[in-house]
Amino acid sequence: MAKPNPHRPFTPDPAQMECAPDISGNTVNGLGESEFRRPSIVYWSPDPDDIPHGGLQRWFYTVNPDEPAIVAQRAERQKILDAPLPDLAGRRSERTPEQWNDALQQYVTAGLCEQVGATPLDRDWLFEGQDTPFANIIIVGVQHDFETISAAPEPSAGAEVMRQYSRAAFAAKAIAGWLRRAGWDADPVTGPMAGKITLIPPALACGFGELGKHGSLITPEMGASFRLSAVLTDAPFLATSSKEHGIDSFCANCRVCEDACPPEAIFSEKQTVRGETKWYVDFDKCLPFFNQTHGCAICIAACPWSKPGIGLNLAEKLARRDKRISGEGGEA
Ligand code: SF4
Ligand code: SF4
Repeated sequence: MAKPNPHRPFTPDPAQMECAPDISGNTVNGLGESEFRRPSIVYWSPDPDDIPHGGLQRWFYTVNPDEPAIVAQRAERQKILDAPLPDLAGRRSERTPEQWNDALQQYVTAGLCEQVGATPLDRDWLFEGQDTPFANIIIVGVQHDFETISAAPEPSAGAEVMRQYSRAAFAAKAIAGWLRRAGWDADPVTGPMAGKITLIPPALACGFGELGKHGSLITPEMGASFRLSAVLTDAPFLATSSKEHGIDSFCANCRVCEDACPPEAIFSEKQTVRGETKWYVDFDKCLPFFNQTHGCAICIAACPWSKPGIGLNLAEKLARRDKRISGEGGEA
């Protein structure tokens, strides 16, 4: 049974709903489709006029437009996006794939981001109609400040999301600049308007944990409380492998995010989406609340994996339990 929720019942602002298109966002996403197809951009399009939900995307920016923390973060992000990339050097630095990965860690060590990974690019991850000449993708993860994101759906939490999108963009541009100075062309992909490619599948492929019931990634290190950016390149990075931590089965027995979600947008069961069975959030139910609250983030803050110090212990506990069940751990 659902727990009491201070934000229910939620009634969307009629002015917002006037901007809604006739087509369901779940239809755009391919909910219920049994055949694979590439994803279509449903939201955060670089040009809102290119997508049916562009009117709602524009409406997002009308909510508390003068909120100081949000104004400041928007200005900061724009500065980062506008900064030019360095010229591509004429001579390529050569390193082994292992050395490229080791060198990439400098951005984690320097505190520009919390996690990086790399994987060959699967063109099925590109949005419909998009292409890129690059063969590899680097994924960058930046973690929210837990206390600040826990204020969701207050505007301060929305500002924290923007702050982390800015950090993610800064890190992606720094990595792309480093590669270009080393003679390897690179294209930074910054959220939320990633435009070219959906970032969750490559993040899963290169070791950023598992997809949670709330439709966001979960890693033991950062929980669900982080943002992504990426860099497309041909520099020969070593693929970092995908990792499972028992999160998927944990979600099957947890309903914290379902109870926390004001518009009840989180499905209890996995759904079929473009030929894949996976956790999925009802886009049409989530978006109005998301828009009215500067990006919501309640579900990722409420997720037990997001609490500092919990994820790694939980992953270890689940690994020990799985070993016991499979008989590998010997007698307890
Ligand atoms: S709150 Fe529970 S069910 Fe939801 S994503 Fe987190 S672990 Fe999974
Ligand atoms: S972001 Fe969407 S799915 Fe998550 S709690 Fe908010 S409304 Fe629900």
